[in-house]
Amino acid sequence: MSALKRSNRNPFSGLPLERFGEQREQFDPNRFDGELRCLHGLSDGRVRIQHDSPKLYWRSRAETSQRVLLGHHAGILYAVEWESLSADSLPPTQPPFPDLRAHAQMLDPFEAGLAAYARAMVIWHQRHRYCGVCGSATESKAHGHRRRCVADTCGTEHFPRIDPAIIVAVSCGERLLLARQANWPEKRYSVLAGFVEPGESLEDCVRREVFEESGINVRDCDYHSSQPWPFPSGLMLGFTAHTDDETLRLDEELEHALWLNPEQLVAAIADGELRPPSGFSISRRLVEDWYGERRATTLSAAVAAHKARPNTA
Ligand SMILES: [Zn+2]
Repeated sequence: MSALKRSNRNPFSGLPLERFGEQREQFDPNRFDGELRCLHGLSDGRVRIQHDSPKLYWRSRAETSQRVLLGHHAGILYAVEWESLSADSLPPTQPPFPDLRAHAQMLDPFEAGLAAYARAMVIWHQRHRYCGVCGSATESKAHGHRRRCVADTCGTEHFPRIDPAIIVAVSCGERLLLARQANWPEKRYSVLAGFVEPGESLEDCVRREVFEESGINVRDCDYHSSQPWPFPSGLMLGFTAHTDDETLRLDEELEHALWLNPEQLVAAIADGELRPPSGFSISRRLVEDWYGERRATTLSAAVAAHKARPNTA
């Protein structure tokens, strides 16, 4: 399977949207020959859903001036506009604005991708209202795809930022390395991850993060797939890596780590001793693909089969 196909399976990825690209400066939404659907958002990046269903709520016309045109698809122009309010400041009778982390799995893939894209753009606008060069105010340009410093003597242009992070499935022979941090939900384990630092290639970052967190030296690594991760501006870059030395020396970031072969992983999940990564994260895909490459079934099918076994104890 190609990296393109692997990435398209990751939640929030593969959004079939024409994003305007080069035409952003000249694009006139009033001359768009189609329907406008506008997400209603808050300044913390949350977007409103319908009262009686988990689906996104759409306005048919723009009502506020804080707006980003996201793109168009199948004759529909998508945008997000937002209030200068966060979810914390809303009275309880207000419409529902759920947290995307908790709500993403209830949305269909297209709506989840739009909500993720909108969240990243709104948070970027909220955090870049002032110029990082001279401190003057900035104003939104190109339908929300850049901000420009208003000072005549400066005029610096600011573009949406993305923070790249690697996430890596490290294996040693038939075993996979899984670890957990103390502040995660009980029994939740995942693969290792960390932010890319200036002056590093992605591969440098894989080697450094794995060594810093676990004491493991990886001998090689390969790209797997990527996933937009708008919490608040991440791009997760998935890798697989191998080591010949399974000796763990954990740093303070990790509470526990362990090596599991495919059967041990299935048993640990089925018996409730280990919770795999969230279903909408690339880490879950890395674990599932690691399993699928070693056994002739899927991880979820193997877990279901293990649970259905007669109790021989
Ligand atoms: Zn400036």
